[in-house]
Amino acid sequence: MAAILGMGVATFDIVNEVPTYPAEDGEVRAGAQRLRRGGNTANTLDVLAQLGHACAWAGVWADEPDGRWIIGDLEARGVRTDTAVRVAPGKSPTSYITLASDTGSRTIVHFRDLPELAADDLAAIDVTAFRWVHLEVRPNTREVTQMQHLIRERSPRTMISLEVEKPREGLEHCLHDPDVVLFAGDYARAQGFAAPEAFLRSLDPTAVPGVKVCTWGEEGAAAVDNGGRMHRVAAQPPEQVVDTVGAGDTFHAGIIDALVHGRSVENALVAGSRLAGRKCGQFGLDGVVASGP
Ligand code: ADP
Repeated sequence: MAAILGMGVATFDIVNEVPTYPAEDGEVRAGAQRLRRGGNTANTLDVLAQLGHACAWAGVWADEPDGRWIIGDLEARGVRTDTAVRVAPGKSPTSYITLASDTGSRTIVHFRDLPELAADDLAAIDVTAFRWVHLEVRPNTREVTQMQHLIRERSPRTMISLEVEKPREGLEHCLHDPDVVLFAGDYARAQGFAAPEAFLRSLDPTAVPGVKVCTWGEEGAAAVDNGGRMHRVAAQPPEQVVDTVGAGDTFHAGIIDALVHGRSVENALVAGSRLAGRKCGQFGLDGVVASGP
């Protein structure tokens, strides 16, 4: 077990379940509605806490009922929040998620009106206490780069992973420092790539020197290790895919857990795929670690 700090977003998710994804301008009734805490980093921490790690969340939260609910939820899942930054007044980031029952696909509309976590916010956090810091690239890429430099300066032995979900201005500056960069398939597809290996091969190892991972939905994932070797893993689909919200976040928790235990990149890919596959077979993240064979 390791102390792990996650820096990124925690959200309030409103999940509407529909039989199939609606046509544009259509009107459909949701069969069920679930309210839950989401956010990429928060989800990854949730699963890492289930895997036995001592997790803490550093993000910005709004002190209003939804924000307090988010904080309470994280604490209840064993994720410390005293490293988070409270903002008042403000509104909690909210994701409106349409979950199609026939495919398990999730379509997300996200609303956010909160400041991003800034490098100055790190001043109050003792990063030496953490073996691993996981960050996500936010629009303030300069700050994300600076945060990594601060972590390196203050705690050179702390491992850094970075999640890249979308193209962002200045992103290239964020990619040099992390030990592990976790790319979403959507990011690679937005660059015109049709397979994760082709995308990973296109990255200049001097610009992105760490381990590189790219997920590819139901087609699995690929990774390049520190020796430049390519690894590929198939997805491990459950009997029935019911909910893919947070599959990537769960995959990342599996990767971080394996690497923190000193396992190989190849093993980490398999662990991520197994855990993410289980997640797709259940609603939410509760018990995802314990629910497998
Ligand atoms: P994100 O949640 O970021 O969109 P992906 O859709 O790429 O991420 O999925 C991340 C991982 O979750 C994949 O690499 C795969 O292991 C697993 N996964 C996603 N969709 C499925 C699916 N339909 N069946 C089985 N595993 C899946």
